[in-house]
Amino acid sequence: MSLQNKVAIITGGASGIGFAIARRFVSDGAKVVIADIDDGRGEEAEKELKDIGEAVYVTCDVAEKLDVRNLVASALDAFGDVDILVNNAGIVAGADLLELDEADFDRVLAVNLKGAFLCLQAVARHLVDRVKAGGEPGTIINISSINAVLAIADQVPYSISKGGVNQLTRVSALALAPYGIRVNAIGPGSISTDMLATVLEDEQARDKVLSRTPLGRVGEPREIAAVAAFLASDGASYVTGQTIYADGGRLPLNYFAK
Ligand code: NAD
Repeated sequence: MSLQNKVAIITGGASGIGFAIARRFVSDGAKVVIADIDDGRGEEAEKELKDIGEAVYVTCDVAEKLDVRNLVASALDAFGDVDILVNNAGIVAGADLLELDEADFDRVLAVNLKGAFLCLQAVARHLVDRVKAGGEPGTIINISSINAVLAIADQVPYSISKGGVNQLTRVSALALAPYGIRVNAIGPGSISTDMLATVLEDEQARDKVLSRTPLGRVGEPREIAAVAAFLASDGASYVTGQTIYADGGRLPLNYFAK
């Protein structure tokens, strides 16, 4: 139980990768607060997690500062502390550069980048105060993407937002290192969730994804959760400022079979 009694906030925790991280953390002994805008799935997720451990669901739009303030207060209320933040909430919207709508650009940046910043700042303030009072440092994990470094023409705001998430990870790792607080990111490749459903349903698009993935398959949410569990644990005590790509080898091997 490497996360025994740790309290973790997981944004976008009602489904997909966020829910898989929540389930893994609870299995590893953590108490989990899932934050999401989808109340139906959030409440279902809370129920499922309560079968294996302690969890609460909080409604929170990460792009809204007051929601984020309420999220941290709710976590402190429920479990008395916060040790881990996983900034996982994310959306995809928009089209090619020339057709891109300003509102889509703003919303993707607001959720994926500003939302990650607001949550990180709110939790970091709590952790810094705790360290100053003689407590443990805690740790933060941002969910980025291979799109942070790949240029993908039809995912303009998404790619920009994830590039920002990588830099958010680095600048905050530097700012928080004096307090012992570690900040890392995970860059998933193609993972089987709702976000990727339309791509995976289209045979041609699916084949294209697979042809560029050396391991030759789409990843499962639990495979991202396993990396998050490592980064959150003491096993990663000397790791900070990193983005770890869990992408079946796509980025590091720069592989194009077709
Ligand atoms: P998903 O759509 O299955 O889940 C995203 C969750 O975030 C949903 O529960 C949704 O309700 C929630 N959410 C959306 N906007 C929110 C907001 N403003 N505030 C709070 N919650 C909000 O997607 P997923 O595939 O599980 O994606 C999770 C993260 O992983 C995202 O950051 C995504 O960019 C990243 N990612 C996914 C893939 C992939 O292939 N699935 C690849 C790379 C990175």
